[in-house]
Formats: sequence, structure tokens, C-alpha cells
Amino acid sequence: MTSPHRANPKTTQTCCICNKPFTLRHLRSVDHLRPSILAMLEEQEGALPEHAMICEGDLSKIRRKHVEQLLQDERGELSALDRRVLNDLSMDVSTAATVDPEVDQPTTIGVRAADAVAAFGGSWTFIILFASVLAIWMAINVVGVFKQPFDPYPFILLNLVLSCVAAMQAPIIMMSQKRQEEKDRLRSENDYMINLRAELEIRQLHEKIDHQMAQQWQRLAELQQIQIDLLESEASKK
Ligand SMILES: [Zn+2]
Repeated sequence: MTSPHRANPKTTQTCCICNKPFTLRHLRSVDHLRPSILAMLEEQEGALPEHAMICEGDLSKIRRKHVEQLLQDERGELSALDRRVLNDLSMDVSTAATVDPEVDQPTTIGVRAADAVAAFGGSWTFIILFASVLAIWMAINVVGVFKQPFDPYPFILLNLVLSCVAAMQAPIIMMSQKRQEEKDRLRSENDYMINLRAELEIRQLHEKIDHQMAQQWQRLAELQQIQIDLLESEASKK
């Protein structure tokens, strides 16, 4: 039993899909393809001759199509993220390396200021400081430090100042929240892509291992049969 892989690597053979000549190093035997991919290939190209060879380019195309089909069967329409993962998979590049970099540093001064104000506005320092300012303001006007209090009870000016602070703080906090949401969205998209890639890779590995094991069992059974035949012929000679 001679495997086509053990032949001289310099000899060329034609790919059964694109009919172009390739050296054996760039060809795979269709006998070694996983059953699901082989079925898809035969569905597309018709029955293939035994020991036919397929080039790496066509193999990666059919693999991509196979995974795409698999995903489509499971969730219907493919999203842009799914397509990106499929692209990475067919080009054999790491998805973790191609995901969008997270926007950690805000770009404009306005956004950076909004982040700083929102962070300060949501801290105990701000609450304590603000409460102290209120208490001092009221104390000054009630106790009568000045001859003429600048904001006598019921503190109408203080009310105006508080309204202004609240009116300014709300949009600033919203601005910062929007940026945070954008960051979270990007992060979850990246996580999704990496998880999907891992799932697809693991699935492929499973299928490959099953296929390999089935092949090995078959070879082992063949070897055993040869040994039994040999033993029987030896026994009949005696
Ligand atoms: Zn080809």
C-alpha cells in the first residue's frame, strides 16, 4: 500500500478542482478529507476519482464554505462579525490579533474632560465637598458673618446655583456613559468573535480526531487481517 504522500515531493500532479499542476507538497489527497467536507466537495464537483488531489487554495475555500454552511444552518443570517471570523479562519490568521483595539484613551479634550467630571461627580470626595460648601453657605447667611447677608433665608441664590450645577452635570455624565457603552460594545463584540473562533476550531479538531481514529482503526483491522491470513497459511503448510 503506497501513500501518495510518500512519493517524490518534486513531482507534480493536477488539482482535481482547478486542474492546475502543483507539487505534492501543496496538494492533499481527497481520501484524507473529513467526510463532511468530502461530501460537500462531491456535491459541488460531482463524484471525484479515487486518490484525487486537491490544492491548498481550493481546500481552504471548501473548508470556509463548509463552516459558513454550518453557521448558516444554525443561526440563519450571518452577521458581519461572523463573516470576519470566517475570513480569519479561512486565511488561517489569529482572530485575537485582528480584533479592534479597545479605545482606552479618549481622543478629544471634551471627552476626556467629561470622563474626569463624571468620575469626580460620582465620588465621595465630591459629596463631602459639596455638602461642606452648602453648609458653609447656609451658615454664613444664617449666622450673619457679613452685615448684609448675600443670600438670606430661604437661599434663593443657592437654589439657582444648585440647579445650574445639576443642569450641567447631567449631560456631562451622559456623555461619559455613552463612551463607556461604546467601549463595552466593542469589548463584547471582540469577545464574541474570539469565542466563535474557538468554538469553530474546537469543532474542527473534534471532527479531525474522529476521522483520524476511524482511519486508524480501519488500518489496524487490515493489518490484523493480513496477520491472520499469514498465520493461517503457515498453519496449513505444516
Ligand atoms: Zn486547485
